Amino acid sequence: MQRSILRDLLVLLGVFGLIWLAFSLFSYPEDPQLLSIEKEERLGEAYVDLILLNPMFREFENRQVDSAIRVIGDRLEGGLHDSEYNYRFVVFDSEMINAFTVPGGNILISTGLIGFCDTPEELASVMAHEMGHVEERHVLSRLVKELGIEILTSGDQYVIGEVTGLLTSTSFDRKQEEEADLFAAHLLEESAIEPRTLATLFRKLEEEMDNELMKHFEIISTHPNFRFRIREALSFKPAEDFEAKPIELDWEEIRGEL
Ligand SMILES: [Zn+2]
Repeated sequence: MQRSILRDLLVLLGVFGLIWLAFSLFSYPEDPQLLSIEKEERLGEAYVDLILLNPMFREFENRQVDSAIRVIGDRLEGGLHDSEYNYRFVVFDSEMINAFTVPGGNILISTGLIGFCDTPEELASVMAHEMGHVEERHVLSRLVKELGIEILTSGDQYVIGEVTGLLTSTSFDRKQEEEADLFAAHLLEESAIEPRTLATLFRKLEEEMDNELMKHFEIISTHPNFRFRIREALSFKPAEDFEAKPIELDWEEIRGEL
């Protein structure tokens, strides 16, 4: 037990060192949109490592679940045409229904969310929404807005703690949510997944609004406005020759692994 605490501490120190390096080796532009993807990815990787050390976000390591997430992630990445990000999807062990993005194309997904989704397509629609926040660089803009670029890039350990807190409870504004929804609808279509799955998901979330397990879920944390979002998702018209291809996974078996 003590040995594992010591190991965690050493890893923590190592991660702090990495973040410090990631911050200090570069100069940063005033506008977060000008930060190179490469720098964003380095920062993101260090933050993912840090978040996974938190007992609330322990990595859930299971071969079947990992490979299912990879199947869905590959399908979605195949639908992206000119992304500069190398996506990494990480499952963490939590009954909370939750998913969030960390800079650099990192998307964290809870086991609770996987259990909540009745089909792999539903999970794909959440992942596509999160990929929208990545591609539109919403996380970085949010962090800069909350903390300012100077503080954000100081590498100070208190700042790092604050950033970690913000990343795991990020809420976006209404416009960013709508952009991510629209991005998701297009991406689902390009990935041969029915875009209206997004509406199905919103309807389910609406029914569960009082569920305590859902209170950190970023998709609904600030502006749920489900009626509007359901209407938007339903009015999205895929191309006439659109044909959905089912994601071939034994979903019940995968959920059985949770
Ligand atoms: Zn969102």
